[in-house]
Amino acid sequence: MEISKIPIIKIPINKGIEIFIKREDLIDPDISGNKFWKLLHNIKNYLGTHPKEPFIITYGGAFSNHIAATAVLGKKLNIKTLGIIRGEELNRKWHLNPTLKKANENKMDFRFVDRESYRDKHKMTLALQEEFPNALIIPEGGTNHLAVEGIKGMLTSETKYFDYLCSAVGTGGTLAGISKYAEPEQAVIGLKVVNDESLHQRILSLSQRTNFQLEDAHYGGYGKINDELIRFINEFRAKFGIPLDPVYTGKAMMKLMKLIDQNYFEIGSKILMFHTGGLQGIEGANYLLKKQNRTLIDI
Ligand SMILES: *Cc1c(COP(=O)(O)O)cnc(C)c1O
Repeated sequence: MEISKIPIIKIPINKGIEIFIKREDLIDPDISGNKFWKLLHNIKNYLGTHPKEPFIITYGGAFSNHIAATAVLGKKLNIKTLGIIRGEELNRKWHLNPTLKKANENKMDFRFVDRESYRDKHKMTLALQEEFPNALIIPEGGTNHLAVEGIKGMLTSETKYFDYLCSAVGTGGTLAGISKYAEPEQAVIGLKVVNDESLHQRILSLSQRTNFQLEDAHYGGYGKINDELIRFINEFRAKFGIPLDPVYTGKAMMKLMKLIDQNYFEIGSKILMFHTGGLQGIEGANYLLKKQNRTLIDI
């Protein structure tokens, strides 16, 4: 989809407020949503240095949208990519994982690291930069200052007229960008899908503004999928024709609906939720749900 034509769709609910959803998920099935915007300036900036053999290294878990997006962009732009993947055990069975299988089809190479080493990414990054001096190393989830700048692309002349701008929050880069580039009278609400108390401070330091508020939407922890969530996602799709992913946008939208029911927003408010994508993760989630004999997410 042409990025200047991303639609804003009204969700018809009868609760005295208006909700709209901006379909960043339609940018591309695999480079969807915020990951596209977060990678954009990082890669442009890097290519501007005219590296001889462009090479991007980044980090992620087994179902990471950021890994999926980096692999596709690398293939499209003819840049070699290496994914540092959390979980040594995946070394033997990565091809069973739909995200990694597809990333590999897009020519991404992998290194699998144990969870302890993965936690010390600072040390790993120093070693990788020494091994590959010309490589661009992008942090986990793609969040850095250039990523925050890229999020500006999600805010257009059409998004200016909403009272509230909402998004799922993982590492906080996306919300920081929304906060940074929102209009002065707009309020920003972040729905946290990770249980992380440091997020407020991190977003504040990236956006330098206090126009945002965070609400918990992790429902048992990052990546955990409960039955209420599956039901919500399937009903939302059946009613409104819009797919949501179980890790980010499904939890964020479910929380938004609960906040509305709790009269969190004044009557008459106009709310915009950014659909940040992540739909590639449904297949991986269903793979796990099937093994547990549970209801699947409709695709
Ligand atoms: C990564 C991601 C987010 C969270 O973005 P952050 O900038 O890490 O907070 C939200 N939604 C989807 C679909 C994502 O893939």
